[in-house]
Amino acid sequence: MDLGIKGKRALVCASSKGLGRGCAEALAEAGVDLVMNARGAEALAETAARLRDAHGVEVTEVAADITSDAGRAEVLAAAGTLDILVTNAGGPPPGMWHDWERDDFVAALDANMLTPIALMKALLPGMMERGWGRVVNITSQSVKSPIPVLGLSNAARAGLTGYVAGTARQVAPSGVVINNLLPGIHATDRAVSLDTGVSQAQGISLDDARTQREATIPARRYGTAEEFGQTCAFMCSVHAGFMIGQNILLDGGAVNTTM
Ligand code: NAP
Repeated sequence: MDLGIKGKRALVCASSKGLGRGCAEALAEAGVDLVMNARGAEALAETAARLRDAHGVEVTEVAADITSDAGRAEVLAAAGTLDILVTNAGGPPPGMWHDWERDDFVAALDANMLTPIALMKALLPGMMERGWGRVVNITSQSVKSPIPVLGLSNAARAGLTGYVAGTARQVAPSGVVINNLLPGIHATDRAVSLDTGVSQAQGISLDDARTQREATIPARRYGTAEEFGQTCAFMCSVHAGFMIGQNILLDGGAVNTTM
């Protein structure tokens, strides 16, 4: 399918690895020029070079912490005019409800709620003025169904989801489309780190922790960054213009709901 976005320019945050990289790659495949970001310069340069070589698109790299004011300013200054924004950052650490203090919540809100909001605030006016834009926020399945050990994520992402629900409807008349993409478990470094926590807590091997989790998923496997990226690219495409303020769940059926 021609996504109709060849020659557009996208910022994909936190994209040297994992789900962000999957999104960057699928957009590059659709002919979109990229601004890519991560804190570690080496992995970022490697991924950027691979996408340039494979897809012949222009790729600008900005090694910076997207959750800091200075990092965001650096990314936005290098980015220039953007048609597409994919927000993403590392997820908060696991724990239990009684573990977290105010500062832990502030850090989680900063990374997973206030950072995407700040990026939208900076970029929506230009998109609205030009009459076309796409925003995809990578959130989590925890928005639909809380994950007990990820209370910080449950809280921060719910806040972002509420903000998007209202804002998406305010900018839609100007041709700007905002939606959220909700990963269930996907095979990335984040999944390895979560499974390591389970293996340590239960005294089982990492493989057994993964097998145990896979058994709870109707698709009986983890998702891949590639399939996640393709869904993201569709949500950034010309075909997604009537999809406003939705929360698209990619979880292999793990969340057991009818709607
Ligand atoms: P990941 O494999 O840990 O990848 C993280 C990527 O983000 C790396 O490129 C990393 O590079 C970059 N990054 C992390 N923090 C950053 C920051 N502050 N500024 C800029 N770049 C940053 O994570 P993932 O699995 O792709 O997950 C992406 C998001 O989806 C996370 O918020 C995660 O919580 C959420 N999620 C993931 C899953 C899953 O199963 N994978 C499920 C639900 C939700 P550097 O470290 O070099 O910065």
